[in-house]
Amino acid sequence: MAGEDLTSLTFAQLERWAATEGLPAFRGRQLFRWLHGRVERDFARMTDLSRELRDRLAGKYRLHLPEIVEQRRAADGTRKLRFRLADGLEVEGVYMPEQRRRTLCVSTQVGCAMGCAFCATGSMGLVRHLAAGEIAGQVEAVRRLLAAEGLERPVSNVVFMGMGEPLHNLEATLAAVEILLHPLGGGMSRRHLTVSTAGLVPAMKKFVERVPAKLAVSLNAADDEVRSRLMPINRRYPLERLLAACRELNLKHTDRITFEYVLLGGINDGDDDARRLVKLLSGLSCKVNLIPYNPLPDSSFRRPRQQRLQRFQQILLDKNLSVFVRRSRGAELAAACGQLVTTAGGGAGRRQS
Ligand code: SF4
Repeated sequence: MAGEDLTSLTFAQLERWAATEGLPAFRGRQLFRWLHGRVERDFARMTDLSRELRDRLAGKYRLHLPEIVEQRRAADGTRKLRFRLADGLEVEGVYMPEQRRRTLCVSTQVGCAMGCAFCATGSMGLVRHLAAGEIAGQVEAVRRLLAAEGLERPVSNVVFMGMGEPLHNLEATLAAVEILLHPLGGGMSRRHLTVSTAGLVPAMKKFVERVPAKLAVSLNAADDEVRSRLMPINRRYPLERLLAACRELNLKHTDRITFEYVLLGGINDGDDDARRLVKLLSGLSCKVNLIPYNPLPDSSFRRPRQQRLQRFQQILLDKNLSVFVRRSRGAELAAACGQLVTTAGGGAGRRQS
């Protein structure tokens, strides 16, 4: 049985790996292109490598691609996808085609350690981190699937908002971003790749220093008492510290930070909450995505009333904040934002983020 999986290595790491194999650096570059540009996982088909080299590598290394074991489609074209990893564990993703863009939401962990009260993934606890090749591999598996269906540019945008807290799995997340952005790999534009965090402040700083992708912060409350109840991470990095970090990041980057705000009926959707949010974000170059909660069967939380949602949005708009209400896609598949979860032994579920 072949050993180490090479799909998690970045471009630079594969160049160095080539040296350890006694090969020139360009062999590492060729392999990177096969793996992440052409989504090839069979050494035998890498025809610009000699037959002897292909045989030697095939005997020594593995090349894993997450397997899409289930697809469920909604009327609006959204697909909920279940990926099986090499060890049999599973994660979920959501593919959302629109007229101008085709967005894939990927997972970075099996489960999550953050324990947010409204999130089913959080109730799983952390099962394990994904490797970089498993994160980028979800995009590659979908690209391969849709290309076979005849779609050109099948994935234009990627969001790391599926199962898991990406910045809790920082090194793998950074490597996956590098793989997806590299011109010989995923070839994505930095403007089309967004990583979401519950607010791990030290990791946020490292993230923006090391990769140029966009950052979204899952805020979900405008005061510490409510936020700590919803998101235990707030006890370690309360709002003042989180927002201070966001302001510092903004000094160095022209990109606006996105703040995600899941509206929970009667919990964080009042006029006072909206006003506090305005105050909190004052002077920050940002945009706010309002996400009406998608009720889960056993949840004690409920969706905000439409009127409430509009009023909340209006208070933000009146103060010239850039605000969008995220349309719920694939809700009937439990694939809408925050409805993804798997059991440790595999199987579909849901997450709320
Ligand atoms: S909302 Fe995100 S960070 Fe919080 S528990 Fe769920 S997956 Fe983890």
